[in-house]
Amino acid sequence: MTELGRILKVYNSVLHVAAKDAVILCKLRGRVKKGHGDAVLIPGDVVAFERISPKEGVIERINARTNLLRRPCVANLTQIVITAAAASPNPHPLVISRFLVLAELSGVKKIILCVNKMDLCQGKQEDLLVAYEVVGYPVLRVSAKQRTGLDALRQRLAGEITVFAGPSGAGKSSLLNALDSSLALATGAVSERIGRGRHTTRRAELLPFAGGYVVDTPGFTRQELTGLAPEELAACFPEFSRHTGCRFTPCSHSHEPGCAVKAAVAAEELSRERYDAYIALLTELRSKRK
Ligand code: GDP
Ligand code: ZN
Repeated sequence: MTELGRILKVYNSVLHVAAKDAVILCKLRGRVKKGHGDAVLIPGDVVAFERISPKEGVIERINARTNLLRRPCVANLTQIVITAAAASPNPHPLVISRFLVLAELSGVKKIILCVNKMDLCQGKQEDLLVAYEVVGYPVLRVSAKQRTGLDALRQRLAGEITVFAGPSGAGKSSLLNALDSSLALATGAVSERIGRGRHTTRRAELLPFAGGYVVDTPGFTRQELTGLAPEELAACFPEFSRHTGCRFTPCSHSHEPGCAVKAAVAAEELSRERYDAYIALLTELRSKRK
């Protein structure tokens, strides 16, 4: 009998597959019929397997992926939580937008901004945060330290396959720890402190949480935008698409006269911070191309 399951982790060529009743240790059948071009199985993949004992199976088929993140290597994510700090370090609009662009590029549908360390700044960053809400990103205000806002975050994680991303020091490990101390243990939030080498490469693992999964390593460990053409950047700023009617097509919304996006910024219908971040990233992409 063939069953469906999801790969949680791959360790020593053994695939840990979450089936309905248990985690089944699977091997690949000699020749696996692939539903996609990538031969390597990774966490998040949905597979069909045959059980050969109560705890062991053989993988027969891989379902096509809906998306694939490279760093860490995980498939079929449903959600990315960009974590930033409200203070210490102060939120930098360019850094936040850069992570949001990386999230947009990943093809993962749900993108949330989670602003941690709200205990350090009551209300001070509200204007900045509201700008992202206006774009359409849900913004959660939390404090891992004071344990506030955690229920809202937990609700957002329920049933989803989530990776946390964001600059280091924003408090991703602290948040996972505050949500569930066993998550923190599994993510290495503790072992990191006792000196796990910074250069140790870690394979990603899906950790069951709230009826869904959380990926144990943060996403986009590199912040460079690679493989993106300058003219593709505007599509990663979803709010720009509401302002059509630029005189030139295509329009890079930078130097062209009669630009509807620039007009909207001048009329304060689009956030100045977001537009400035767009121009900074556009300049960076153009200089890479030369
Ligand atoms: P990561 O690099 O994103 O995993 O960040 P960490 O979880 O290691 O946290 C970075 C630093 O911020 C640590 O010193 C934490 O103690 C601190 N921190 C984390 N969350 C909070 C919070 O909600 N409030 C305050 N004041 N500090 C926090
Ligand atoms: Zn334009």
